[in-house]
Amino acid sequence: MPPKLTPTTEEIDALAAKFETIGLNKAKAKDAAKSPKIAEPLKHLVEAFKLSERSVSDKQASLLVYFAPPSSKLPSDQERGYIIDKIIDGKLKSTDQVNAAIKYFEAHPPPVDNSAFDYECGVGFSITPEELYARVTSYIAANAVFDWSSLSSVIGGLKNTPDLRWASPLELKNTVEKAFVDTFGSKEEALAKLKAEKAKDVKKPTPKALGPETVQEPSTKTVFEQGFLGALHKPGGNPQIKPELRERHLTATGGQVWTRFPPEPNGYLHIGHSKAIFVDFGYAAHHGGKTYLRYDDTNPEAEEGKYFESILETVRWLGYEPWKITYSSDYFDQLYGLAVELIKRDKGYVCLCTPEEIHANRGGEKSLTRKACSHRMRPVADSLADFEKMKEGKFAPGEAVLRMKQDLESGNPQMWDLIAYRVLLSPHHRTGDRWKVYPTYDFTHCLVDSFENISHSLCTAEFILSRESYDWLCDALEVYKPRQSEFGRLSVTGTITSKRKILKMVKEGYIRDWDDPRLYTLIALRRRGVPPGAIISFISTLGVSTATTSIQVTRLEQSIRQHLENSAPRLLMVLRPLKVTIENLEEDHLSMVEKPLHPKVPEFGSSKVPFTRTIYIESEDFRLVDSKDYFRLAPGKTVGLFGAPYPITCTSYKSDPVTGAVVEVIARLENSGQAKKPKTFIQWVAEHAPSGSPIRVGETRIFHQLFKSDNPAASPDYLADINPDSLEVVKGALLETGFLTLAKKLWRDAVAESKARTEKALRENETGVHGTDDDTPHATSDQLVGKECIRFQGLRVAYFVVDKDSKLKFLEESDDVVPTLRDGDTIILNRIVSLKEDAGKTA
Ligand code: ATP
Ligand code: MG
Repeated sequence: MPPKLTPTTEEIDALAAKFETIGLNKAKAKDAAKSPKIAEPLKHLVEAFKLSERSVSDKQASLLVYFAPPSSKLPSDQERGYIIDKIIDGKLKSTDQVNAAIKYFEAHPPPVDNSAFDYECGVGFSITPEELYARVTSYIAANAVFDWSSLSSVIGGLKNTPDLRWASPLELKNTVEKAFVDTFGSKEEALAKLKAEKAKDVKKPTPKALGPETVQEPSTKTVFEQGFLGALHKPGGNPQIKPELRERHLTATGGQVWTRFPPEPNGYLHIGHSKAIFVDFGYAAHHGGKTYLRYDDTNPEAEEGKYFESILETVRWLGYEPWKITYSSDYFDQLYGLAVELIKRDKGYVCLCTPEEIHANRGGEKSLTRKACSHRMRPVADSLADFEKMKEGKFAPGEAVLRMKQDLESGNPQMWDLIAYRVLLSPHHRTGDRWKVYPTYDFTHCLVDSFENISHSLCTAEFILSRESYDWLCDALEVYKPRQSEFGRLSVTGTITSKRKILKMVKEGYIRDWDDPRLYTLIALRRRGVPPGAIISFISTLGVSTATTSIQVTRLEQSIRQHLENSAPRLLMVLRPLKVTIENLEEDHLSMVEKPLHPKVPEFGSSKVPFTRTIYIESEDFRLVDSKDYFRLAPGKTVGLFGAPYPITCTSYKSDPVTGAVVEVIARLENSGQAKKPKTFIQWVAEHAPSGSPIRVGETRIFHQLFKSDNPAASPDYLADINPDSLEVVKGALLETGFLTLAKKLWRDAVAESKARTEKALRENETGVHGTDDDTPHATSDQLVGKECIRFQGLRVAYFVVDKDSKLKFLEESDDVVPTLRDGDTIILNRIVSLKEDAGKTA
């Protein structure tokens, strides 16, 4: 009989009846039964996953139909089952989400990382219409949007912000249109007005100076060209109180983008700062501009020398070169001069109220009515005299302050006569005891931005209300007014970044120091071996918008893994060795095995390692009790050895008479050509003293989450939340001899690269010495190299890096010496990340 090509009507009806049992209506069930692409796969799903017995809504049933045709790269029922559960549990609600789920499995072999899956597929995403409207209006406000011509770029920009990726496109479009009507009037009116203007030949400012030009395909755009950053004004596009200020600014900058990164030197930078660094340096570099590193050192009480050095080092380590290094304190004279000028313009006054009185006059805790104090109206000459006295130290701290004469009627607290200068008696680390008065952030920041001709003053969203006072002060003094634009902070949960709390943990001995690899300060991530490129690409994929991005630290680990996958060479390494004696090899057997350092990156080259009668394998790769799904070593079982020509079979083993633990495995090398190709290959290292094999690792440090809860920062007692087992130390790991050559090469390359990079930076920038004062941090090549450049994957184990506690004198040997460990050399390794995120166990 010829094969049946089309099913009979009865067969279709039977199948359709079956499909109805999962909640499809008659018509849909019939369509599915008739479709050659869907019928069979759907039948398989219904049967294999007992879908008839589960309660499935009709919408979910349609999604199951959509999902049924097998995706070629999604072969296993286990993965299908996972997706089906998510559909039926109502977690995956749209075809887009189902597609994202399939994509997720194509890119990530099991086991599933639940939180990464949920994030990628938008599981749990929800936003109320009110929230969405608020997001849209704050985006419009923050992105210099002026009329309806920006409609599509605003929709595009919002769609590209990671947290709105799963918002319904239709809802988003409607919300943006509504916000545009509310902000700019109806589209028809706006168009009519535009026509009328054209008719009268009214010149509109060129769109170039105003921000978003026509949108291109988002896929071809970088984070600097779309969304928040893409919508920033062009240099010169920021309004000025007098036109000549704009001209002067553009002459000074040549029309370039000039930005600054302005850390307060009162602590080490953390992962959150890398977003600001990326935005400030990246945006300027993208537009061929320049970025200052400016230490915002106006508070002598909190600053310490060591932070200055570390900040520059960290910025450079992340891959950025400041154009100039400056200090707010460089401008103390100019700032003081402008403070005097402010008083002369009757826009500033010395206030002798106590801090409590100032607070009460601002409405106090209960936001009662605000009042001007008697000093607000005093004659200019009186204030000038008192300001002079403040400067001479004739007032004690808190007795007198200089205040801006702003607008007490304003709804914005940043306009309630902010303090511009206060008396502080601590010596300043750069200006010593020359000054008794210091400018506040509110007075300093905008003016120094102005002095430095900053075109885009990018800062985090908590400064949004400060924009009004920023503008007010520049205009009051009639100086160039940079445009401040605010982006959302990066907040990381699962760790603590607060300086005060970290300091307490260090002091009380919970962690070693600020660079303890369990922390998320940037010096800690560096020490832990995280490549700077992994941090930058992580930040850039998160995108930049006005909303706070809140991320679990474990998500960063996923990016690090991806980054290391093809950039870290692979070595044979055994973390917890178990001795194997190969009984059918001679005592002095030696063969050399050559194996690539990366299966997919031939440029890494290869290493040659000895293979002898005594080898070590991972103790986890041997078991006494065999089972069907176990393919490694057990009595009578055969396993392959990476790179070695033949597999081995376990013939017997020895155990410790007291503990019963297996201490040695006896095996046979299957070199007779009979053995089948093994299912699994395991890593090993051989004992061979003449080649220096194996290399013994003093200590391998494995880091687990420092905190037990997911959000220690929110916990009232974060010290009690510390995980007592967050540091695991393994002694006696073994490495192949290829480690030495690799380590030396990585070290040499890093030294050469850091020299070349630093020479170039010093040629192109002004970061050699700061004025006449060469005590201050400047760019040097050793800022960029440390033992953390020696990273590798211990094959099948994890990614590792050499810790700075190691002593490796051999790195300094001349190039023609075959590297060997010297007396006193010790290797200490840090685990950067595990190879895969373990379910339920955080790496
Ligand atoms: P923290 O309070 O977390 O210690 P900070 O605001 O006091 O931070 P600064 O030294 O003033 O730290 O920060 C320098 C720059 O880095 C500022 O522009 C600030 O807005 C930015 N920044 C600080 N924390 C973050 C963060 N979590 N995400 C993005 N940018 C940040
Ligand atoms: Mg700060």
